[in-house]
Amino acid sequence: MTDLTEQQRRAYLDALGIELWLPRDEPDIDPLPEAPPAGADGLDWTELKDCVASCTRCELHQSRTQTVFGVGNPAASWMIIGEAPGAEEDRRGEPFVGRAGKLLDEMLRAIGQSRQDVFIANILKCRPPNNRDPKTDEVSQCREYLERQIALVNPSIILAVGRIAAQNLLGTDSPVGRLRGRRHSLGEVPLVVTYHPAYLLRSPSQKRKAWEDLSMAQALARSTARGSA
Ligand code: URA
Repeated sequence: MTDLTEQQRRAYLDALGIELWLPRDEPDIDPLPEAPPAGADGLDWTELKDCVASCTRCELHQSRTQTVFGVGNPAASWMIIGEAPGAEEDRRGEPFVGRAGKLLDEMLRAIGQSRQDVFIANILKCRPPNNRDPKTDEVSQCREYLERQIALVNPSIILAVGRIAAQNLLGTDSPVGRLRGRRHSLGEVPLVVTYHPAYLLRSPSQKRKAWEDLSMAQALARSTARGSA
Protein backbone atom coordinates (compact mmCIF):
# COMPACT_ATOMS: atom_id res chain seq x y z
CA MET A 1 0.00 0.00 0.00
CA THR A 2 1.32 3.44 -0.93
CA ASP A 3 1.87 5.98 1.84
CA LEU A 4 -1.21 8.13 2.57
CA THR A 5 -1.00 11.85 2.67
CA GLU A 6 -2.05 13.43 5.99
CA GLN A 7 -5.25 14.62 4.31
CA GLN A 8 -6.07 11.12 3.02
CA ARG A 9 -5.29 9.60 6.44
CA ARG A 10 -7.70 11.98 8.17
CA ALA A 11 -10.45 11.32 5.57
CA TYR A 12 -9.93 7.58 6.00
CA LEU A 13 -10.16 7.73 9.82
CA ASP A 14 -13.19 10.04 9.51
CA ALA A 15 -14.93 7.55 7.20
CA LEU A 16 -14.32 4.80 9.75
CA GLY A 17 -15.86 7.03 12.46
CA ILE A 18 -12.61 7.29 14.37
CA GLU A 19 -12.27 10.58 16.20
CA LEU A 20 -8.96 12.22 15.64
CA TRP A 21 -7.13 13.75 18.59
CA LEU A 22 -4.82 16.50 17.52
CA PRO A 23 -2.22 18.31 19.57
CA ARG A 24 -3.12 21.91 20.25
CA ASP A 25 -1.03 24.55 18.59
CA GLU A 26 -0.92 26.82 21.65
CA PRO A 27 -0.51 25.66 25.22
CA ASP A 28 -3.26 27.02 27.52
CA ILE A 29 -0.77 27.93 30.23
CA ASP A 30 2.06 30.37 29.81
CA PRO A 31 5.44 28.78 30.42
CA LEU A 32 6.70 29.39 33.94
CA PRO A 33 8.92 32.46 34.25
CA GLU A 34 12.53 31.60 34.86
CA ALA A 35 12.97 30.92 38.58
CA PRO A 36 14.85 33.69 40.37
CA PRO A 37 18.25 32.60 41.65
CA ALA A 38 18.11 31.19 45.17
CA GLY A 39 19.56 33.67 47.65
CA ALA A 40 21.97 36.37 46.63
CA ASP A 41 24.26 34.29 44.48
CA GLY A 42 24.72 35.72 41.02
CA LEU A 43 22.75 38.93 41.71
CA ASP A 44 24.02 42.21 40.28
CA TRP A 45 24.20 45.38 42.41
CA THR A 46 20.66 46.51 41.68
CA GLU A 47 19.16 43.08 42.28
CA LEU A 48 21.17 42.64 45.46
CA LYS A 49 20.12 46.05 46.77
CA ASP A 50 16.45 45.29 46.06
CA CYS A 51 16.79 41.88 47.68
CA VAL A 52 18.28 43.41 50.85
CA ALA A 53 15.70 46.23 50.93
CA SER A 54 12.83 43.74 51.00
CA CYS A 55 14.51 41.16 53.25
CA THR A 56 12.37 39.59 55.98
CA ARG A 57 14.70 36.68 56.81
CA CYS A 58 15.13 37.60 60.46
CA GLU A 59 13.16 39.45 63.12
CA LEU A 60 15.16 42.67 62.65
CA HIS A 61 13.02 43.60 59.66
CA GLN A 62 10.17 44.31 62.08
CA SER A 63 12.00 47.03 63.99
CA ARG A 64 14.14 48.63 61.29
CA THR A 65 13.37 52.00 59.72
CA GLN A 66 15.18 50.85 56.60
CA THR A 67 17.97 48.51 55.58
CA VAL A 68 21.51 49.87 55.46
CA PHE A 69 22.99 48.31 52.37
CA GLY A 70 26.44 49.88 52.21
CA VAL A 71 28.01 52.84 50.52
CA GLY A 72 30.95 53.82 48.37
CA ASN A 73 32.78 52.77 45.27
CA PRO A 74 31.41 49.47 43.94
CA ALA A 75 34.85 48.71 42.47
CA ALA A 76 36.85 49.89 45.50
CA SER A 77 40.17 48.35 46.38
CA TRP A 78 39.41 48.87 50.11
CA MET A 79 36.38 47.30 51.71
CA ILE A 80 35.58 48.32 55.29
CA ILE A 81 33.31 45.99 57.22
CA GLY A 82 31.69 46.99 60.49
CA GLU A 83 29.13 45.45 62.78
CA ALA A 84 25.59 46.69 62.21
CA PRO A 85 23.72 49.96 61.78
CA GLY A 86 23.12 52.07 64.88
CA ALA A 87 20.24 54.48 65.46
CA GLU A 88 21.59 57.20 63.18
CA GLU A 89 22.45 54.75 60.40
CA ASP A 90 18.98 53.18 60.64
CA ARG A 91 17.46 56.66 60.24
CA ARG A 92 19.67 57.72 57.34
CA GLY A 93 20.15 54.41 55.53
CA GLU A 94 23.93 54.81 55.41
CA PRO A 95 26.62 53.01 57.43
CA PHE A 96 28.90 54.85 59.86
CA VAL A 97 27.27 58.26 59.89
CA GLY A 98 27.26 58.83 63.66
CA ARG A 99 30.22 59.88 65.82
CA ALA A 100 32.03 56.63 65.13
CA GLY A 101 31.49 57.27 61.43
CA LYS A 102 33.16 60.67 61.67
CA LEU A 103 36.19 59.04 63.23
CA LEU A 104 36.18 56.35 60.54
CA ASP A 105 36.20 59.14 57.93
CA GLU A 106 39.25 60.66 59.66
CA MET A 107 40.99 57.30 59.74
CA LEU A 108 40.35 56.91 56.03
CA ARG A 109 41.61 60.42 55.35
CA ALA A 110 44.83 59.55 57.16
CA ILE A 111 45.53 56.90 54.54
CA GLY A 112 44.48 59.13 51.63
CA GLN A 113 41.03 57.59 51.18
CA SER A 114 37.50 58.91 51.49
CA ARG A 115 34.19 57.13 51.97
CA GLN A 116 33.56 57.63 48.25
CA ASP A 117 36.78 55.75 47.39
CA VAL A 118 36.21 52.70 49.59
CA PHE A 119 33.16 50.48 50.03
CA ILE A 120 31.69 50.39 53.54
CA ALA A 121 29.32 47.64 54.65
CA ASN A 122 28.29 45.88 57.83
CA ILE A 123 27.85 42.30 58.99
CA LEU A 124 24.14 43.10 59.48
CA LYS A 125 22.01 45.26 57.18
CA CYS A 126 19.43 46.05 59.88
CA ARG A 127 19.78 47.68 63.25
CA PRO A 128 19.57 45.40 66.28
CA PRO A 129 17.27 47.05 68.84
CA ASN A 130 19.08 49.01 71.56
CA ASN A 131 22.35 48.32 69.71
CA ARG A 132 22.58 44.85 71.20
CA ASP A 133 25.07 42.39 69.67
CA PRO A 134 23.89 40.63 66.52
CA LYS A 135 22.43 37.16 67.16
CA THR A 136 23.93 34.11 65.47
CA ASP A 137 20.89 33.48 63.27
CA GLU A 138 20.79 37.16 62.19
CA VAL A 139 24.43 36.98 61.15
CA SER A 140 23.96 33.78 59.22
CA GLN A 141 20.82 35.02 57.42
CA CYS A 142 22.63 38.20 56.41
CA ARG A 143 25.97 36.62 55.55
CA GLU A 144 25.03 35.84 51.98
CA TYR A 145 24.40 39.51 51.23
CA LEU A 146 27.82 40.51 52.52
CA GLU A 147 29.49 37.68 50.64
CA ARG A 148 27.87 38.83 47.42
CA GLN A 149 28.98 42.42 48.11
CA ILE A 150 32.56 41.23 48.62
CA ALA A 151 32.42 39.20 45.40
CA LEU A 152 31.07 42.19 43.45
CA VAL A 153 33.56 44.70 44.87
CA ASN A 154 36.46 42.25 44.62
CA PRO A 155 38.63 44.38 46.93
CA SER A 156 42.40 44.25 47.31
CA ILE A 157 42.04 44.52 51.11
CA ILE A 158 39.30 44.06 53.69
CA LEU A 159 39.50 46.03 56.92
CA ALA A 160 37.36 44.45 59.63
CA VAL A 161 36.57 47.07 62.25
CA GLY A 162 35.73 45.81 65.69
CA ARG A 163 35.14 42.51 67.43
CA ILE A 164 31.83 41.53 65.82
CA ALA A 165 33.09 42.05 62.26
CA ALA A 166 36.43 40.37 62.90
CA GLN A 167 35.07 37.36 64.76
CA ASN A 168 32.26 36.70 62.31
CA LEU A 169 34.38 37.14 59.21
CA LEU A 170 37.17 34.95 60.53
CA GLY A 171 35.02 32.41 62.38
CA THR A 172 36.83 32.83 65.68
CA ASP A 173 36.11 34.07 69.18
CA SER A 174 39.56 35.56 69.72
CA PRO A 175 39.56 39.16 70.95
CA VAL A 176 40.47 42.03 68.63
CA GLY A 177 43.68 42.58 70.60
CA ARG A 178 44.88 39.19 69.40
CA LEU A 179 43.52 39.39 65.88
CA ARG A 180 44.90 42.81 64.99
CA GLY A 181 48.45 43.42 63.84
CA ARG A 182 48.66 40.51 61.39
CA ARG A 183 47.48 39.45 58.01
CA HIS A 184 44.40 37.22 57.72
CA SER A 185 42.59 36.17 54.56
CA LEU A 186 39.02 35.85 53.44
CA GLY A 187 39.31 33.52 50.49
CA GLU A 188 41.90 35.19 48.31
CA VAL A 189 41.49 38.63 49.86
CA PRO A 190 43.88 39.78 52.61
CA LEU A 191 42.07 40.95 55.72
CA VAL A 192 43.30 43.17 58.53
CA VAL A 193 41.51 43.61 61.85
CA THR A 194 41.48 46.87 63.75
CA TYR A 195 39.61 48.49 66.59
CA HIS A 196 36.10 49.78 66.06
CA PRO A 197 36.02 53.59 65.90
CA ALA A 198 33.39 53.61 68.66
CA TYR A 199 35.93 51.87 70.90
CA LEU A 200 38.63 54.35 69.84
CA LEU A 201 36.34 57.20 70.89
CA ARG A 202 36.25 55.66 74.37
CA SER A 203 39.92 54.66 74.38
CA PRO A 204 41.82 57.25 72.34
CA SER A 205 45.15 55.87 73.55
CA GLN A 206 44.57 52.89 71.22
CA LYS A 207 44.52 55.12 68.13
CA ARG A 208 48.23 54.56 67.63
CA LYS A 209 47.60 50.81 67.22
CA ALA A 210 44.75 51.49 64.81
CA TRP A 211 47.14 53.61 62.78
CA GLU A 212 49.61 50.70 62.66
CA ASP A 213 46.80 48.42 61.45
CA LEU A 214 45.82 50.87 58.73
CA SER A 215 49.43 51.20 57.61
CA MET A 216 49.73 47.43 57.39
CA ALA A 217 46.47 47.20 55.43
CA GLN A 218 47.73 49.90 53.09
CA ALA A 219 50.94 47.97 52.41
CA LEU A 220 48.95 44.78 51.77
CA ALA A 221 46.50 46.59 49.50
CA ARG A 222 49.40 47.90 47.44
CA SER A 223 51.07 44.53 47.15
CA THR A 224 47.87 42.74 46.19
CA ALA A 225 46.30 45.50 44.07
CA ARG A 226 44.30 43.97 41.25
CA GLY A 227 46.26 44.11 38.10
CA SER A 228 49.61 44.20 39.87
CA ALA A 229 51.90 41.29 39.10
N1 URA B 1 28.91 50.84 63.81
C1 URA B 1 29.03 49.90 62.87
O1 URA B 1 29.68 48.88 63.05
N2 URA B 1 28.43 50.12 61.71
C2 URA B 1 27.75 51.22 61.44
O2 URA B 1 27.25 51.33 60.34
C3 URA B 1 27.67 52.19 62.45
C4 URA B 1 28.25 51.99 63.63
